[in-house]
Amino acid sequence: MTKFEALGLDQPLLDAISDLGFESPSEVQEKSIPILLEQETDLVALAQTGTGKTAAFGFPMIQKIQQDSRTTQGLILSPTRELCLQITNELKLYSKYVKGLNVVAIYGGASITEQARQIKRGAQIVVATPGRMKDMIGRNMVDISKIDYCVLDEADEMLNMGFYEDIKDILSNTPQEKFTWLFSATMPKEVATIAKKFMHKPIEITVGSKNAGASTVQHEYYVVGGRDRYAALKRLADANPGIFSVVFCRTKRDTQRVAEKLIEDGYNAGALHGDLSQNQRDLVMNSFRKKQVQMLVATDVAARGIDVDDVTHVINYQLPDEIETYTHRSGRTGRAGKSGISMVIVTRSELRKIKAIEKKIQQEFLSKKIPDGIEICEIQLYHLANKIKETKVNTEIDSYLPAINDVLEGIDREELIKKIFSVEFTQFYNYYSKTKDLNSSDSGKDKGGSKGDIPTEGSVRYFINVGERDGYDWMSLKDFLRDTLNLEKEDVYNVDTKDSFSFFNTDAQLTEFILQTFTDFKLEGRFINVEVSKNPGGSGGKGGKKRRGRKGGGGGRRGGNKSYKGGKKGGYGKKGGKKRQGFY
Ligand code: ADP
Ligand code: MG
Repeated sequence: MTKFEALGLDQPLLDAISDLGFESPSEVQEKSIPILLEQETDLVALAQTGTGKTAAFGFPMIQKIQQDSRTTQGLILSPTRELCLQITNELKLYSKYVKGLNVVAIYGGASITEQARQIKRGAQIVVATPGRMKDMIGRNMVDISKIDYCVLDEADEMLNMGFYEDIKDILSNTPQEKFTWLFSATMPKEVATIAKKFMHKPIEITVGSKNAGASTVQHEYYVVGGRDRYAALKRLADANPGIFSVVFCRTKRDTQRVAEKLIEDGYNAGALHGDLSQNQRDLVMNSFRKKQVQMLVATDVAARGIDVDDVTHVINYQLPDEIETYTHRSGRTGRAGKSGISMVIVTRSELRKIKAIEKKIQQEFLSKKIPDGIEICEIQLYHLANKIKETKVNTEIDSYLPAINDVLEGIDREELIKKIFSVEFTQFYNYYSKTKDLNSSDSGKDKGGSKGDIPTEGSVRYFINVGERDGYDWMSLKDFLRDTLNLEKEDVYNVDTKDSFSFFNTDAQLTEFILQTFTDFKLEGRFINVEVSKNPGGSGGKGGKKRRGRKGGGGGRRGGNKSYKGGKKGGYGKKGGKKRQGFY
């Protein structure tokens, strides 16, 4: 008897499991499957991403559903379209030997009538995002009044994304007697509230310790000046030539910007965020799966649940607002028993956030230094040597060999090696031999630029080089700042527009973020310059010299340069519906 058989699964599922090559159940599967098969009960299961939760609820649901009835009996709610499709695909694989079972995915951004048609043909299991589900209930396109089982998958993230009301509405259309299975990576207050409100005496299971990050992940942080984030990111990539990574930014705008810069600098990068069309997102994800994209720059929402197992590094280009989000980010690596590294680029003033995260994930961070130019050159050199060694010889070249030999005549082996490396390497070396140390020292003296005296307390007044001449009044400038910075209304205040420049205030904890956002910031081709005003009173102006960015620099020559152009340009990040919360 296999371990899966011992859990009580029937033959059609066991056959599918053996086709999938699963050898033994994961811990969350081992704990939930027998309970869900044998008992009619509500369940709360906490387990990290990548632990096999889909099968933990999918196997029992498939086995319990009557496939000879066409009534919708199982509903699975999940936060994003990507996850919704992922779950649907998995369930189809699991149920390939279960005749007559239909699993239908419904999600936004695709034809609602087509989805309604699929439901009408009879879908015993519906996998849905809350938004589209509510929409379809409203239009009588789906009937969930007879379901027996409802799964809330990634419950923490659904609540994070503000789906509480939608979930409540959806559940009010389901029978009282159904059973609810809630799966979540973390257990914040909000999830506990849902469990209490909508579930009846749920059995609780926890895999690993609550809220802990996956332990196969090593956490590292790198302290740099706020304006050196991008340069640091490039070095981290160059120091890890085989990198296959997800790079997280806080806003859609930053995500797009960082991806575009990486592409410009010759990296195989792509952007993934909510301002891209569904089609563009699918393209990027496909390239990422095929590893044509080595660095996927993504927002938290868009990257949620990315099911790619071999991610070597997660890079936090900026830290998220909430610690929970960090857990989700780092969970993108170290999947399927592999090890992974989660790197955080921080400024000195953010170090306390690292402490807060350490406490939450109960794991320590390693403090690491951004490698210097010479180190990176060495790494790249050995990488290239190994690559040459491992390259399979292409015999097509044989017929050209005599001619090539003629050209290279008189050059000995050592010389030849030097030349080959120089061809590949000089540009790289030249770039790095001139670069500075990016590590922010503790002495407070910042080599990164002239920003030494950024205030850290109280309210800070800024100068910005746009004004009424550019068509702004205080209200529209406030809107512009809020949207661009993805801030709440109250975060920006005392906006005061003059003819060709203006002033505004924020609290000091936002200063670094604001200066960083407005480094190299262009609006309709023009550099927007923001500086801390030397005049805290707020009247009178100051010329404000242009703070033009350093050029990114060459640096990243990558093998097989098929740069992926990701998505549409710019577009000022629309304000996400989510409230910023002070978790740290
Ligand atoms: P989670 O929802 O917990 O993040 P998934 O259900 O998406 O995790 O599973 C992660 C990956 O592990 C998937 O590719 C899945 O096919 C695979 N997987 C699930 N269960 C097993 C198992 N018992 N053995 C091997 N691989 C598994
Ligand atoms: Mg999952």
